Amino acid sequence: MMKKRGASKCIGLVDADLLDNGTRHPNLVLLTLAGYFRDHGIPYELIIDNEVNLECYQRVYLSRVFAFTKLPKFVTDFQTKHPKTWRNKLQMGGTGFYATEEDREKFDEMRRKDMVQLAMDPFLPGFSMAHQMPDYNIYIPYIEREIEKKVNIESAKLKRKNGIAPTAQEIDAIALKCRKKYKDYLDYSIGFLTRGCIRQCSFCVNKGERSILPYSNLNDFVDDSRPFIYLWDDNFLCYKNWKVLLQQLIDKGKPFQFRQGLDERVLDDERVEMLCRAPYHGDFIFAFDQWKDRELIKRKLKIWKRHCPTKTTKFYLFCGYELVADDDEKLFTDVYYLFCRIQILMSFGCLSYVMRHADYTNHRLGNIYTQVARWCNQPQFYKKMSFEEFVFRNQSYQEEHSASTKICKTLATYQDFKKTFADKWKLIEPLFKMKYESTINPSNWKE
Ligand code: SF4
Repeated sequence: MMKKRGASKCIGLVDADLLDNGTRHPNLVLLTLAGYFRDHGIPYELIIDNEVNLECYQRVYLSRVFAFTKLPKFVTDFQTKHPKTWRNKLQMGGTGFYATEEDREKFDEMRRKDMVQLAMDPFLPGFSMAHQMPDYNIYIPYIEREIEKKVNIESAKLKRKNGIAPTAQEIDAIALKCRKKYKDYLDYSIGFLTRGCIRQCSFCVNKGERSILPYSNLNDFVDDSRPFIYLWDDNFLCYKNWKVLLQQLIDKGKPFQFRQGLDERVLDDERVEMLCRAPYHGDFIFAFDQWKDRELIKRKLKIWKRHCPTKTTKFYLFCGYELVADDDEKLFTDVYYLFCRIQILMSFGCLSYVMRHADYTNHRLGNIYTQVARWCNQPQFYKKMSFEEFVFRNQSYQEEHSASTKICKTLATYQDFKKTFADKWKLIEPLFKMKYESTINPSNWKE
């Protein structure tokens, strides 16, 4: 049973990412724990306020996905107050506690412990992350509160603008728009059909994995009242029994999507044909992480586009990895090959999505990645203007909308980059001026 907020002596669930920066995705571990407590008649709630006292909870489970997320103050206060005993009440886990550990032995050990700690928890006998049906409703009080806040803010704005209070229809429209922001929490069943990967990329939390194994069954996590399914599988298409599982997904009849990016390098006619006829939801997302894969990526794109010429296809582009403070050469090379990858993707009519490793912030010119992501990750910019045009558009927008005569951050970053790499500018300038409409080349995939 989900308790009313503020109830005492129940189990507290803490989504550290939500409380720090907010996040687009519900936390699957917490949803699954909630499902376990629901099924065992143990009261529980998601803690959604930063002003709580952990003393009134019987036990608290905290999950953190991102290493940059700060722990809530009520947690650090509790640890300070009970330096020797806090572990008796507070269980913490998630990739955010070890993803950036550089010592490989330590990383492997921390990951191993993290992966098994809930299965070993004496408070959770019989708990199975893979086979426990989640309780998808734990975020509802949070979402209702956020929607109410937004409705109040927007209603006040409308009242100021029009001189009268908004109508019921206008309020409903605001609430509906806001609800869309939380669709991942409200409309999807979430799970893994497989876990693991065979690629061992050094920048990935799966770097120590050697194989892909089956994990949940669809019936373990699909809630029939939810219209869509999303999957967190690490590398579904490389799993040996991918075909059986994909057929099960198709037979389920609900639109689904893989959120982690599919491995384009193993596409063949059979995989492509099946994916194209599946009720796939949203864009197909692949990954093009390394320049060395370019010829393979292009070969597979020809197959993909031949079968599936019109479906929006997007690629994650990993970058910024292992940048250090003063290594200008490395930064330039990384940005240069990022744009070379974008050029290939544009030539096949694909979208690109820049995924920055946190190391990009180590370099004084790291902001160039932020600006490239602002351009590249928004199709309305990526498809309509070059990166350079985007930079100058930011400046003209600032001049039109404020009294400031200063150079905007986007242009300042671009100028710094140009000045630093004046000797190489001729190499990268054409890529900064590259436009989607003149780069796309259908003869790449048409016979
Ligand atoms: S292919 Fe993807 S999931 Fe596998 S190790 Fe590389 S980045 Fe990680």
